[in-house]
Amino acid sequence: MKKKHTGAIVLFTVLAGLIAVAIAYFSVMLYVKTGSFIPPVLSDMSGLTGFGIADVKVSDEADSSAAHISGDMSDVKTSDEAEKVNVTKKPTQKPKKSGKKKPTTTPAPSKPEDVNDISTHDMKQYLGEMPGEDSDIVSTATSVYTYEQMVKDLYFLDQRYPGIFTYETLGVTKDLRQIYAVTLGNPAAPNHVVIQYTVHSREYINCLLAMKQIEYYLKNYAAGETYGDRSYPDLFANFCLHVIPMANPDGVSVSELGIDSMRTASAKGIIQYCWESDTQLGRTAAPIEDYLKTFKANANGVDLNKNFPVGWDGYTDGVPVPSTDCHKGVSPASEVETQAIINLVHANPTVAVISYHSAGDLIYWNYGVEDENLLAADRNLAINLNNVTGYPTAVSEKYNWHLAGGCSDYFMWEEGIPSVTLETGQGTCPLDISAFSSMWNANRDVYALLAAMYG
Ligand SMILES: [Zn+2]
Repeated sequence: MKKKHTGAIVLFTVLAGLIAVAIAYFSVMLYVKTGSFIPPVLSDMSGLTGFGIADVKVSDEADSSAAHISGDMSDVKTSDEAEKVNVTKKPTQKPKKSGKKKPTTTPAPSKPEDVNDISTHDMKQYLGEMPGEDSDIVSTATSVYTYEQMVKDLYFLDQRYPGIFTYETLGVTKDLRQIYAVTLGNPAAPNHVVIQYTVHSREYINCLLAMKQIEYYLKNYAAGETYGDRSYPDLFANFCLHVIPMANPDGVSVSELGIDSMRTASAKGIIQYCWESDTQLGRTAAPIEDYLKTFKANANGVDLNKNFPVGWDGYTDGVPVPSTDCHKGVSPASEVETQAIINLVHANPTVAVISYHSAGDLIYWNYGVEDENLLAADRNLAINLNNVTGYPTAVSEKYNWHLAGGCSDYFMWEEGIPSVTLETGQGTCPLDISAFSSMWNANRDVYALLAAMYG
């Protein structure tokens, strides 16, 4: 055997030995960290089509796996117990590089004067579309309740019930839509409650629920109907409710109508990027049309329920680029939709914040806070909502590396305001209109209940 062959064999043997040692080392490290020799895959695939796991979770919320569900409050776990079910931290996921350059997601904020849509039109031109006296204004013919329909219906409701409510806009989104807020009751009252719907786009059936709740309130108020032993005007004489029926109008438009509903080239570019990137990351295998139907984020590809300034830095389990979900944004409260909710709460003496999501027929509360007074107030809110809706309560654990940036978590932890999340309906979002009647029966009296509690 020639000398150079012997050298090659020695070199090969040494390299093979090193590789074997390296494989053994990394296998042991993987087992120590994860309890498994199988490398972790992207952890939160919820809501993505093509993987057949969309119906595993009881709710769309990432915290469902940590929740303790209870039909009554007797066996609800304390925050200490909730902490114990925290899973061991997994290594941070490094996504593969997307083929396309990440688009800019933080242009200069949009201004009201940039808006040119139905919200800036002379609404009189739509009066011919207003339903007759015998019909409700808000139609439940379809769950695809659009931004344009909402703006029209707010105007029609104001025509039918003049002087009973007001509405305003809180901000302008990336794709130049307005974020609306409706005020019910007495703005001078000492106790206000803020309710927001559809921060997650594909849960747009909750916007329809909000508008039906508003119409129901107006109808009962105008007729002097009672809830319990008090009339609506009496209930709301010393109470004020702020409703954001469509907190994420750009995202709702994407989920309802597809990419062509985007008005600006930059929003369209980001939505397209989300699909391409999520496809490359293995987070979806669906064609873009199907992918967008289950879209959750805003037009910056930011999951608004990961964007609130609570545990934001420590949330390491997300997607670092724009995506349908789990992208927390470039900074805490970077998104105008997040800011709109926070600013509305700050602008008023807010005693409770309620977030509507889908699905699950559940009420999340607790969030692992340790302040006993806050916990008692939050428990009281959850119990009362349980009584009215029939939805079981569930303890949501404290935010951590895979649960952070949520609206309710933020107001509980950072503002000390009792907050709950209602998960309406059963099934996979977007929910069909067939899911609406049970949602309606459960939630019809929520506004009156809040007035009875805090008025
Ligand atoms: Zn949601």
